[in-house]
Amino acid sequence: MLHIGAHLSSSKGFEKMGKDALFIKADTFQFFTRNPQGGKAKDINAPDVQKFLEISNQNHFAPIVAHAPYTLNPCSDNLKTREFAELVFNDDLKRMEYVPFNYYNFHPGSHVGQGTDVAIEMISTLLNKVLTPKQSTMVLLETMSGKGSEVGSTFEELKEIMGRVECQDKIGVCMDTCHVYSAGYDIKEDLDGVLEKFDNIIGLEKLKAIHLNDSKTPFASHKDRHEKIGEGSLGAEALIKFVNHPLLKHLPFVLETPNDLKGWASEIEFLRANFND
Ligand code: FE
Ligand code: FE
Ligand code: ZN
Repeated sequence: MLHIGAHLSSSKGFEKMGKDALFIKADTFQFFTRNPQGGKAKDINAPDVQKFLEISNQNHFAPIVAHAPYTLNPCSDNLKTREFAELVFNDDLKRMEYVPFNYYNFHPGSHVGQGTDVAIEMISTLLNKVLTPKQSTMVLLETMSGKGSEVGSTFEELKEIMGRVECQDKIGVCMDTCHVYSAGYDIKEDLDGVLEKFDNIIGLEKLKAIHLNDSKTPFASHKDRHEKIGEGSLGAEALIKFVNHPLLKHLPFVLETPNDLKGWASEIEFLRANFND
């Protein structure tokens, strides 16, 4: 069984996302915890969450993935921005306990000229402030393409951050296929080699979720432009191989392709048709 979904709009609440997921034949999905450009999150509506949990249980959903806002930058050179990151992180993790035992994915951050060493220290400092042994949510670092001063475009950087985290059982990685390919990991021609690298540096047991995207830009371009499945530089064949890889096929896959619900429904149908149970 392929566990797959898409990045859905959270503006109408959890029940609506559950229904949208069913509509596109998904059994997982991702959503922004608040406006991706920052701002205040809407209050949790307990009956709405309850209805979602029923949908999720009845349909045996895989873990879902919350995505932190893009404005969350734990390694900014501005103290106010770092404080905002802590505030949002804490608030989001508190809210995630309404839908326990799922994932919270975030972009490690941009070092804005301070260098990766300083950034790695700042990111792990934030994680050690906000993670607690009793939370049920697992926090995922997203693999980045390396545009601008982004941290986390190499497995080594992710390892450095994670190695400093005290709550080891609350931290994992979400691999974005567009980002890693743009970052220079050739998952098209040498998926086995990339996974071996990941395993040696981070450990495959830390890989918890996948953002499944094609890429508008070529290999190692260090850009971040998602494309529809089969229409980009990765191509359908590589992405089909990816979801079928014995080391990956059990993971939840989330499409972040430029699509609407109908477009995602057909991508999911296509990938399910090409999935070997
Ligand atoms: Fe992301
Ligand atoms: Fe992503
Ligand atoms: Zn991206």
